Amino acid sequence: MKPPVEPREEDCCNSGCNPCIFDVYQRQLERYKNLNKYSDHLYKQNGISELEYTAFVVKETIKICDTQKILKFKKKNNEEYIKVWWNPGDHFLVKYTSKKSSCSRAYTPIKLKIHSNEDFNFMIVIKKYNDGLVSNYLYNLEIGEVILWRGPYGHYKIESNKYKRIIMIAQGTGIAPFMSIIDNIVSNEDDMTKIILYFCCRTIDEVLFRNELYDLKAYWNFSYKIFLSNSLENKNNLKYNEPICFSKFDRKELQDLKPFVNNQFLLCGSQQFMNEYEKTIRDENYSENIILF
Ligand SMILES: Cc1cc2nc3c(=O)[nH]c(=O)nc-3n(C[C@H](O)[C@H](O)[C@H](O)COP(=O)(O)OP(=O)(O)OC[C@H]3O[C@@H](n4cnc5c(N)ncnc54)[C@H](O)[C@@H]3O)c2cc1C
Repeated sequence: MKPPVEPREEDCCNSGCNPCIFDVYQRQLERYKNLNKYSDHLYKQNGISELEYTAFVVKETIKICDTQKILKFKKKNNEEYIKVWWNPGDHFLVKYTSKKSSCSRAYTPIKLKIHSNEDFNFMIVIKKYNDGLVSNYLYNLEIGEVILWRGPYGHYKIESNKYKRIIMIAQGTGIAPFMSIIDNIVSNEDDMTKIILYFCCRTIDEVLFRNELYDLKAYWNFSYKIFLSNSLENKNNLKYNEPICFSKFDRKELQDLKPFVNNQFLLCGSQQFMNEYEKTIRDENYSENIILF
């Protein structure tokens, strides 16, 4: 492994990225100095770097609804094919540059087992906000355009068979890290962890990965419910036995799961959403293992 290259002052965009490129450099330097203490996988070659941006081309765009799209990316120059890898739940940072400013934002890479034969490195789901700078830029990207990414970063590690159940509560694009985690656990025949997902959306059109979740239901250790907060939804549009509730997620769902013995809770959504459900879980006398993404 080569020593990490120290970033230059101008590599930092001064917009408070988490993690900052200089923090990543310090961490990698530390790892490099302690090389022998670490296992090989930390150093396997990756087609994306934590320290410098790599160019990726937009390979495909899929419109989900007026505010959400899926974008698939392929590495621009990859003559010697090097896999782009990350741990389930990690995020990448995209670089946005305009004449006026430069900044970065976090997005969650996904590639499920069902995509293994497809020719792209990773995809993201993007929700555009009305006055959102980077989300509008990404939403309007077209096939062939090139953008810069660095990563992976993250704190979540799948620990096979450590927990009896993993209970996930997601809101909107917050499903992104959970799709990779679910895919990874159910694909591991030796992992006996049960996964329960509660997925909160506004309307049925906004439900990301609706077909994939329906198919994942076939695994013995995965179950889910989708909650639609817009009560005017058409209830006839469902698949056979599709677990969709036409109401907001209610704490009664959690009460029905009690007792919580050896469970892990994962929450992903807006800060307000995560705060609300973290409090709900604590109110149900559980505080041991709650992770906010
Ligand atoms: C670890 C991590 C992973 C992420 N993964 C994804 C992902 O996979 N897909 C994805 O679409 N986004 C993801 N995000 C959010 C993403 O990084 C941006 O924050 C988001 O796209 C908005 O950026 P923007 O530049 O468009 O908005 P900004 O220009 O930064 O904000 C403009 C306005 O948009 C609104 N806004 C921005 N963000 C939110 C929000 N989260 N909830 C409610 N209102 C908001 C606010 O009104 C804000 O004032 C992730 C964030 C983190 C921290």
